Amino acid sequence: MPAVPTAASPTAPTRYSKHIVLTTYPGQSGIDPIPLEWGGADAKARGPVIASRSANLLKRRNAMGAHGGSYSIYNALAVAAGELEPEFRPDLRNSQPTFDFPFQSAWADKTKIVSMDPFGHDIVNQFREELDAGWDIRPTMAITRANMKLAEIGEAVRDGQLEVDGSIVVDSSGEVRVTKVAVEPVWYLPGVAERFGVDEGTLRRTLFEHTGGSYPELITRPDLKVFLPPIGGLTVYIFGPPERVSDENVKLALRIHDECNGSDVFQSDICTCRPYLAFGIHEAIREAQSGGSGVVIYFRKEGRALGEVIKYLVYNARKRGGDTADKYFTRTENIAGVRDMRFQALMPDILHWLGIKKIDRMLSMSNMKYDAIVQSGIEILERVPIPEHMIPSDSRVEIDAKINAGYFTTGKQFTTEELAQVRGRGWEKWEDITH
Ligand SMILES: [Zn+2]
Repeated sequence: MPAVPTAASPTAPTRYSKHIVLTTYPGQSGIDPIPLEWGGADAKARGPVIASRSANLLKRRNAMGAHGGSYSIYNALAVAAGELEPEFRPDLRNSQPTFDFPFQSAWADKTKIVSMDPFGHDIVNQFREELDAGWDIRPTMAITRANMKLAEIGEAVRDGQLEVDGSIVVDSSGEVRVTKVAVEPVWYLPGVAERFGVDEGTLRRTLFEHTGGSYPELITRPDLKVFLPPIGGLTVYIFGPPERVSDENVKLALRIHDECNGSDVFQSDICTCRPYLAFGIHEAIREAQSGGSGVVIYFRKEGRALGEVIKYLVYNARKRGGDTADKYFTRTENIAGVRDMRFQALMPDILHWLGIKKIDRMLSMSNMKYDAIVQSGIEILERVPIPEHMIPSDSRVEIDAKINAGYFTTGKQFTTEELAQVRGRGWEKWEDITH
C-alpha cells in the first residue's frame, strides 16, 4: 500500500503557523469585515474588495475566494515553490488605465453589474490611503492599448474591403490599433443568484459542493456577499476612439465571442469560431472607420464553457457515431449532460459597464446572447449573421444544427430530415495516413 503522506514533512515550509484557519464565522471574536456596499454611489461609498487572508486582514476581509480567477492556483504554487512572498504587495506605479472610461450609472446599480467590480480598474486612485496603510487591494481590471494584426484583416486591406486610415488601420499589412480592457470575475452573490432565478443559499451551497468544498466561507459566512470565483474572465477590444462606445449618437457594431482555442488560434475548420471572430473584427473596424464604434468582447468560456477535454470527447463521439447535424447537440448532451454551459445571464454586465445603451449591428446568431442583452435593457437594432462564403464546409454540421435549434439566420433553415444529410468530414483519409 502506498504510504499516506503526512502533513508535516522535514521540508515543509515554515511560512505558516501550525494553527490553520479553515474558515471563519460571523460572530467570531475579531471578525469585522471592511464595509462593502455593492451598488454604492461611488467607489468610496461602495468600499474596496478585500479577499486577502494575510494575518492583518483575515478577520477584516469582505470577499471570499482569491484574486486572479483561475490563475489564483498558480499564485499559490509560486508561494509554495518559494518564488513569491505570501505577503507580497504589487507596486502599481504607472499601471493606470490608458483611457479613463466615464462613470456610468450602472456602476452604482447592483442589479446591472453583478459579475465584475465596476471600480476594479481604478483601485490606485480610489483607495490610495488604504493601499498606503498596507491593505491588500488588487485591481481586477486593466485598460491598455496595443496594435494587433490578423491575416484576414491584412487580406481585406489588400482586397480593398478595408482602407488604411492611419489611425485605426495603420498600414497596408493590416496592422490595427486597439484599446483593450481585461476583466477578472468578481461576483456579488445575491445578484448572481437573481440572474439565475435561484435563491442565494442554493447558489452558495452548489458553489461550495462542486468546487470540492474549497470555499467553506460560502457556507459559514452568509454576511460576506462577494466571491472571486476561480474561472476565466473577459477582454474587450475597442476599435476607434474609446469615448465613442457609450455615445448613443454614433453607430455601434458589436460581437460577443466565446473562446474556442482550436479555431480562434489554431484555425481548426470544424466550427465557425475563427471566421466569425475575424468577421466581427472586420465589421467593428468598418464601423469605427465610418465614424461609429466597433467592439469585440472575448469571453474565456472554452468549448461552450465545457472545456477542451469534453470538447474533444464530443468530437470523437461525433466522428465515430456518424457526424450529422441532427445528432450534433445529442453528442454533447451525452457526454456533458447539457449542450451549453455558457449561461449568458452574466454577460451583459460588461456592456453596462461600458455605457452601451443600444447596439446597431449585433454580429452574432446566438439567441441566448440576444435574449440576455435585450432583457438587460439594451436595444439591438440589427442582427448580422456570418456571410455564407466564410463558413468552412466541415463546420456545416455545427452551424446547421445551431440554426435548426433556433439560432438566428437570414438564410436557409433546415428540417430534422435535412439535418441528417448534413455530414462532416470523416477520419477515413486521416486514418490512412496514420496507419
Ligand atoms: Zn469553435
